[in-house]
Amino acid sequence: MNRRKKAISIVSVILIVFLSFFSYIKISDNYRTVRLPEEIVLIPLEFTNIFLIPLKEGYMLFDNGYEKEYDYFLNKLKRNNIDVMDIRYVMISHHHDDHVGFLNRLTALNPSLKVILHEKSVPLLAAGKNNQKNGGGIVNSRIYALFRLKQLITPGWDFSFPPYSVRDTDIILRGESAELPEEVGLKSKVVYTPGHSSDSISLVYKDEYIFAGDMASNFLNLAGAKHLTLFNEDVGVVYSLWEKVLSMNIRYIIPAHGRPFGAERLKENLHKYSQKDLVVYF
Ligand SMILES: [Zn+2]
Repeated sequence: MNRRKKAISIVSVILIVFLSFFSYIKISDNYRTVRLPEEIVLIPLEFTNIFLIPLKEGYMLFDNGYEKEYDYFLNKLKRNNIDVMDIRYVMISHHHDDHVGFLNRLTALNPSLKVILHEKSVPLLAAGKNNQKNGGGIVNSRIYALFRLKQLITPGWDFSFPPYSVRDTDIILRGESAELPEEVGLKSKVVYTPGHSSDSISLVYKDEYIFAGDMASNFLNLAGAKHLTLFNEDVGVVYSLWEKVLSMNIRYIIPAHGRPFGAERLKENLHKYSQKDLVVYF
């Protein structure tokens, strides 16, 4: 076998193992799933789930995906018979590349759309790159290896995103928690939930649900994620937030990665990792 053929077959084997690992885990993570409230429109992107939450008038979009997913997103809206101009607010759970990639596109298309974000997101969004200054790492070495492999086979995946400059009309939330302003037309509390990133927020919905962003996840549990998002700046802070969520009697977690799940699974997985277990990535 010549060298080129050999290289191709090695890469193919790695790809097959990698893809079957991912699909296996995706399927097996689906057990004991929780249904979304029926009015919520889920738009699943490559890795990030984003949601349209109906308001008195129009919709609030919770998060958005990678920049390259914009056209796919518009198509999905069409298929759901939703006019993109009916999106009046976009809430950003935090500044990472897989959550804010087409924010500029949306505000350019509809300048009256308002972005809702935490004050800590303001400089991080303007920087256009996932913050790597707060340390932290990947939950375990298996997931670290998958991350490295994905980076190897995904050209241009460098944790950057189009920088977003917050406008005067955007809604900046401050402090540990805040009610959504009345103009939004949705009575809901926003909780500051750092740990995954220093600017993370989550949205409590109908008292029982929480749109968690990356405060928790339901992805790669069989590889040992144990409901943590794969990367965390401070895992101790994440667990203290899980305890807070449990004390608020929230029953269902709606994560950005993976399907919704019952809050009891946070309780079962509390403190499974400590900060020193994390594998430094950056
Ligand atoms: Zn993130």
